[in-house]
Amino acid sequence: MATEQNNLPDIISHCKEYGFIFPSSDIYDGLSAVYDYGQWGVELKKNIKDIWWKSMVYMHENIVGIDSAIFMHPTIWKASGHVDNFSDPMIDNLDSKKRYRVDHLIEGFCEQVADSNKQLADELLVKMDALLAADDFVGLKQLIVDNNMKCAVSGTCNWTDVRQFNLMFSTQLGSVAEDSDTIYLRPETAQGIFVNFLNVQKTGRMKIPFGIAQIGKAFRNEIVARGFIFRMREFEQMEMQFFVRPGTQKEWYEYWKEARMKWHLALGISASKYRFHDHVKLAHYADAACDIEFDFPMGFKEVEGIHSRTNFDLSQHQEYSKKKQMYFDNDIDEATGKPYGNYIPYVVETSIGLDRTILMVLSEAYTVEDLSTEDKKDSRVVLKFPPKLAPIKLAIFPLMKKDGLAELAREMMNEYREDFFCFYEEKDAIGKRYRRMDALGTPFCVTIDHQTKEDGTVTIRYRDSMDQERVKMSDVKAIVLNAIKS
Ligand code: ATP
Repeated sequence: MATEQNNLPDIISHCKEYGFIFPSSDIYDGLSAVYDYGQWGVELKKNIKDIWWKSMVYMHENIVGIDSAIFMHPTIWKASGHVDNFSDPMIDNLDSKKRYRVDHLIEGFCEQVADSNKQLADELLVKMDALLAADDFVGLKQLIVDNNMKCAVSGTCNWTDVRQFNLMFSTQLGSVAEDSDTIYLRPETAQGIFVNFLNVQKTGRMKIPFGIAQIGKAFRNEIVARGFIFRMREFEQMEMQFFVRPGTQKEWYEYWKEARMKWHLALGISASKYRFHDHVKLAHYADAACDIEFDFPMGFKEVEGIHSRTNFDLSQHQEYSKKKQMYFDNDIDEATGKPYGNYIPYVVETSIGLDRTILMVLSEAYTVEDLSTEDKKDSRVVLKFPPKLAPIKLAIFPLMKKDGLAELAREMMNEYREDFFCFYEEKDAIGKRYRRMDALGTPFCVTIDHQTKEDGTVTIRYRDSMDQERVKMSDVKAIVLNAIKS
């Protein structure tokens, strides 16, 4: 069920106002579906990356990381099927020349009619799924025309036929047009892992089952890019390919489904905000696949995919590169009493969008609280990040600049900054400084006042409860460290 009110516009403006996320090329009026992370967004992003990397690489002895290049040999995308298959069915309105992804056009129409005729909306979605699963483009157009689905710009129902449109960006490698080669900006990080499978396996002496993890940029020429950082043209993925013995992929698929859901729940988000969505129509490479969906402000949508990719990718690379992608398994097969021998491993993949995870964390954290009293109207916007994800862990405020308070605060800052990110602020009234830290999601603030000089205590203020208490200055570090560990 979607959140009652879609507060995405509020989240977008909050992100811009408080230095989390800006439209790319803002002073040139932006570039559609491309965004820049500001000073606090980049910290949030880094914290999420670190938590994912730690959970994959540091917590598993049999998973290692790599960082492969964005540019890769063009044949890789032929082998992977992206040149021929990485496309979405599109339809153009002949009057406005506006292009739509067919599923988005139909879903948008269904959303509109659902209020007055939910049954019709549900029936149309079921029909659409069946037609998409059968690649029935004629049927999809018929569905659009029969139900008089109109272009939002021209208001007409004057459509082209449904066609496939490839989502990869291409560019030229080499400076002179005649001798340059067309190459692609990678649409997923996974292929960089597959083509390094043997490099890593051999140099790392990896034994199956083992995994290779990677965090990096991916690019897709999304036609209808909507939903802020939910669907971008340049985005980041955190992917892990887990290489297994053929026949064991179903077990590993179940293992990773559970492990990944646990990871999500460990972010402190409640289980009711998640659900699995099993794929009915499987991608050309998969023998099982599901999405982890999160209840975003615009409803339940995919944040992560878990795919059992068979040995499709490695087999294709073996065929196209003419280099063997075999693994020799000397473990004994109990059924035959002999080693398993040579085979192309099967792969279970977990693939999560970093930007979508950021949107998930932001939408979970974004809270507007009414603090009005009988005499005064008041409210605050607070980002209730789990402390481990918060960009700033601790804000340190001298009550005033003079009387040596600023120096004391600076001393504290210098002592703590090695352990976590601290923020120093001496301007404005304390209440105003607290509210600003609420808007940035800082879990703890401390204020240093004259009493600190006398008895070494400070006021610590907790973001979520807004409670304040006096604690020993020397206890603050442990309080913060304890909170960011959990
Ligand atoms: P969708 O159906 O939403 O287009 P997908 O199934 O094509 O997504 P995958 O190819 O499985 O996505 O990619 C893995 C993950 O990468 C997704 O779960 C998502 O979090 C992220 N991702 C994919 N496309 C985008 C995009 N255009 N912008 C931001 N994140 C994306």
